[in-house]
Amino acid sequence: MNNSKNILIVGAGFTGAVIGRKLAEHGHQIRIIDSRSHVAGNCYSERDEKSGIMVHTYGPHIFHTDNHDVWEYLNRFTEMMPYVNRVKTTVNGQVFSLPINLHTINQFFNTTCSPSEARKLIESKSDQSINDPQTFEEQALRFVGKELYEAFFKGYTIKQWGMSPAELPASILKRLPVRFNYDDNYFSHKYQGMPKHGYTPIIENILNHPNIVVELEHSYSASDSDGIDHLFFTGPLDSWYDYKFGRLGYRTLDFEKFHTEDDFQGTAVMNYGEEEIPFTRITDHKYFSPWEEHKGSVCYREFSRTCMPNDTPYYPIRQMGEMELLNKYLNLAEQEKNISFAGRLGTYRYLDMDVTIAEALHMANIYIDSLDKGTEMPVFTVNVR
Ligand code: UDP
Repeated sequence: MNNSKNILIVGAGFTGAVIGRKLAEHGHQIRIIDSRSHVAGNCYSERDEKSGIMVHTYGPHIFHTDNHDVWEYLNRFTEMMPYVNRVKTTVNGQVFSLPINLHTINQFFNTTCSPSEARKLIESKSDQSINDPQTFEEQALRFVGKELYEAFFKGYTIKQWGMSPAELPASILKRLPVRFNYDDNYFSHKYQGMPKHGYTPIIENILNHPNIVVELEHSYSASDSDGIDHLFFTGPLDSWYDYKFGRLGYRTLDFEKFHTEDDFQGTAVMNYGEEEIPFTRITDHKYFSPWEEHKGSVCYREFSRTCMPNDTPYYPIRQMGEMELLNKYLNLAEQEKNISFAGRLGTYRYLDMDVTIAEALHMANIYIDSLDKGTEMPVFTVNVR
């Protein structure tokens, strides 16, 4: 194909791989570099040497989506196995079911409410004077009331985000539903599952195309851009500018991994709501592959803290201060040519895997369109402000 372009992609996670594949299938030559020694970014999974259990090295990843196209796309590259995420939380010496559902409500308030009675009960607890909740705390007080908020969300959120829920946006809590029936599926999406062989082979399969070359343990330097037509950058946006205005804030995670001979907690995810318990949750990775059989457990105790320069960035904080800084970087980025920023780090947003894939496909399609029409490729193809 004589219109073939030389494309460089920085980052071999979902975003980079999906963009690369789509463009490779359109006849372009793709070089993907990643500073890590493996592909798949934070979705990376591998078998634990001792137990053979598939572990999510950078913390639990559960695939869920309402997007049919994304589900189909994923299934091109892996066999997805049935998996339903059911989360428990330990609070005040008791174990409750999450997301808040009829079982949680009845157990918490010592009631035997029907769905409509539970609705009334929660309404009586909720702060109806909050009309348009802006913060996490307002959203919680408005929809579940003080008691449930303080038991399940306040302490956990302070540990997870390192700040009061009164300073965090309502959008974070909106990720979690409240249900007035006994449905304890953590997600409300139509499709949910786990890849049979973990996430790493999905990315490997996506990258497995004759027009794609991958180089690991290769950090970007200016000479990588020699002779390329376009660069897709999926690393941290502020790193592209050498942090000249300062660093965008992230939370990072520390994992304390441990093995037990017996089943440790009987479920995949156990949250710990109390602020005094230093970790947010414990995940037992054997429960992420319920179709496999393993006697013991491999668990990760998960601690959240401020991300320092040499740590792995996980959750973008996106507070007022960060947004000011982000805008400075966005203003610079929007002046660029022949470069596009994508993905969680490139756009500094808290993205689930399905959104990441959808946005990557969208960006690749826009690039293909821009070549067809002779228009300029935008630096961002979604709203990032
Ligand atoms: N959250 C909480 N208590 C819980 C679980 C979640 O307060 O037991 C809050 C917390 O602020 C978290 C947010 O809800 O950041 C979103 O939860 P989710 O489970 O989606 O977080 P993730 O698995 O992406 O870390």
